Amino acid sequence: MDTRVIQLLMELRKQGISDTRVLAAMERVPREQFVAEQFLKHAYDNIALPITQGQTISQPYVVAYMTEALQLGDRMKVLEIGTGSGYQTAVLARLCRRVYTIERYRSLLTTAEKRLDALKITNVVTKLGDGHKGWPEQAPFDRVLVTAAADTRPDALIAQLSPHGGIMVAPVAVNATEQDVIRYTREGDAVREERLLPVRFVPLLPGIAREAAT
Ligand code: SAH
Repeated sequence: MDTRVIQLLMELRKQGISDTRVLAAMERVPREQFVAEQFLKHAYDNIALPITQGQTISQPYVVAYMTEALQLGDRMKVLEIGTGSGYQTAVLARLCRRVYTIERYRSLLTTAEKRLDALKITNVVTKLGDGHKGWPEQAPFDRVLVTAAADTRPDALIAQLSPHGGIMVAPVAVNATEQDVIRYTREGDAVREERLLPVRFVPLLPGIAREAAT
């Protein structure tokens, strides 16, 4: 075991992450397999790192915080918007029954799929698409996690939450550069909102990304 993982977990505990299932899941997902070669030496630093297409792999603290805020159960069906590197997807997959994840860059999705395969994580279904729309064919979801910043409350995703205590955790814009992580809890048609943590995510962009052929 890489001692840097242990250091990182200790730091997350100090920062207030107390859910032992979340910490154990992060211990079991090697972040080094989700970062580019030039950032390997920083794989276990508690910082966000660049991935391709101008996107980022989130800071471990934010991954832990948002995962804890979701209050996952191991029988749950989870929708993730913004697969990116696939790191958060892998952490979720260790904690629930199935993860449905949507990414708008095909290249990121393909790389993430390979990484998940290499780790023998088989309870993830991926889709190239615009996460704003969610995944209506698979709804309702027990949990929804959005890992890119929305301009406004993502109502289309709330509509795909289970009406029986479904929870969505999402960064939502406060102004042009700052966002707050918000937890939405749905009971029937009522939605409770809790403002949890100031963060900085890359934006949730419209449509599927155009990529130059490689
Ligand atoms: N969870 C990721 C974080 C990736 S950053 C990780 O652990 O690495 C956010 C990701 O959201 C980027 O990959 C970006 O391309 C993607 N994204 C942005 N807008 C999107 C949209 N409308 N639909 C799907 N994915 C989107």
